[in-house]
Amino acid sequence: MNSSLKIIALPAFDDNYIWLLTYNDEAVCVDAGQAEPVLNYVRQHNLRLVQMWTTHPHGDHTGGIVQLKRALPDCRIFGARDIPTSDEIVGEGSTITWQHFHINVWHTAGHTANHLTYVLHDDEQTHLFCGDTLFSAGCGRVFPDGRADWLHHSLQRINRQPENTLLYPAHEYTANNLRFAAHIEPDNPDIQAALSAAQHTPTLPTTLAHERHINPFLRVHLPDVQQRVSKLCSLDMQEDEAVFIALRELKNHF
Ligand SMILES: [Zn+2]
Repeated sequence: MNSSLKIIALPAFDDNYIWLLTYNDEAVCVDAGQAEPVLNYVRQHNLRLVQMWTTHPHGDHTGGIVQLKRALPDCRIFGARDIPTSDEIVGEGSTITWQHFHINVWHTAGHTANHLTYVLHDDEQTHLFCGDTLFSAGCGRVFPDGRADWLHHSLQRINRQPENTLLYPAHEYTANNLRFAAHIEPDNPDIQAALSAAQHTPTLPTTLAHERHINPFLRVHLPDVQQRVSKLCSLDMQEDEAVFIALRELKNHF
């Protein structure tokens, strides 16, 4: 019996992670895009999967839910109203209880309209499961039901957490994101160092402190970033939000 929280990255598809949390003999998974990696892990380790938390309805985050529910009917599925398989609809301000943890649900719109982030506090450590809102050195794309200004607000909210907060995005896009970050900030030594470290190795979870140094989407208030984005877009931009929206657009075409 293991009575400390463990958080494991289960690789899925080409570059997804399904985050699996374990405590005692219970497990929770975040964004069950595929059933097999979760089923294999819980069976091998004699764990009971009791909850699934879903950030948003894209198939690579939800594709395994039905199969998992069929195999493990006692498992409860949490998600926003746009997740039709949810047993319990959650949103901004909801709290989920698992073991002695109380997980806060945030509405972090932007990538999609109803995207959720799950925030778990364990002693002094905050763990933030942010789906496709923030990636290491980047952020999610804006889908037709999302908006770039919403995404900016969601990233600002994440950025107000303590700097040791651990961030658990759903994709390993770090190396590609860092190439874009280096294009925006060619003289940033932290980005160069992260780029050489990111080749062919898992880079997640990441910390907020690290992201503040390397993630251009958290750095849109800095004069260097504002000037560079203004130059690339041939527009003079000083508002953080305008810079963020332009940066997101630049990344789409990078
Ligand atoms: Zn997505």
